[in-house]
Amino acid sequence: MLEIRGLKKSFDGLEVLKDISLQVRQGEVLGIIGPSGSGKSTLLRCATGLETPDGGEIRYEGTFGLVFQNFNLFPHYSVMKNITDAPIKVQKRSREEVFAEARALLAKMGLSDKEDAYPYQLSGGQQQRISIARALAMNPDILFFDEPTSALDPELTGEILKVIRDLAAEHMTMVIVTHEMNFARNVADQIIFMDKGVIAQQGTPEEVFGSSNERMKEFLGKLG
Ligand code: ATP
Ligand code: MG
Repeated sequence: MLEIRGLKKSFDGLEVLKDISLQVRQGEVLGIIGPSGSGKSTLLRCATGLETPDGGEIRYEGTFGLVFQNFNLFPHYSVMKNITDAPIKVQKRSREEVFAEARALLAKMGLSDKEDAYPYQLSGGQQQRISIARALAMNPDILFFDEPTSALDPELTGEILKVIRDLAAEHMTMVIVTHEMNFARNVADQIIFMDKGVIAQQGTPEEVFGSSNERMKEFLGKLG
């Protein structure tokens, strides 16, 4: 579904990604963890074409959706327009079909009553659920999340993690950068621990969280 080989990226001579290779199969969830500045967002941005790699190969099948830390909803669009705009304008799908699907997504997110609201009228957790609905409205084959809960209060984090957990149960293919270690451990099929631009550990949650890698232990220790 997604294959990255030998990915390299530097900013002003600073090598941020050094020879990153990974694979995500259909229906699989990849969790990416690691300290601040280790290159997690840059990896996601290269994988989704927001950043041009200096080297390596990125291959995936189908379309992808992207959910950011800060929701990135269009502030001057209603909830409905945020969700339906790209499917109608970019994918040229029929308005009726897209609206029906958007309403189903809103119901799934428990936000049917917010159709006409504007982002500023919503809580952070609600905005993030809308941004997930917006990504899903494009019928992506793979969903990328960059720290989807780190801008949220702890009590709102759970509702977003539940949405992602439900998507995993529906076998959505996902790549999730997260600082929520319990969540990563429970939801991911595969974990990558990034450190200073390299994959320092890679494997099942059991393998990675149980590893005796010093940097990994130091990282988990800092999270308390
Ligand atoms: P965090 O957990 O804090 O989000 P991260 O692992 O996502 O960190 P990145 O955002 O990928 O880290 O950044 C990796 C390194 O690349 C950092 O040193 C950062 O300063 C640098 N960097 C990222 N984007 C740019 C850019 N557009 N221009 C210059 N340097 C950048
Ligand atoms: Mg980041």
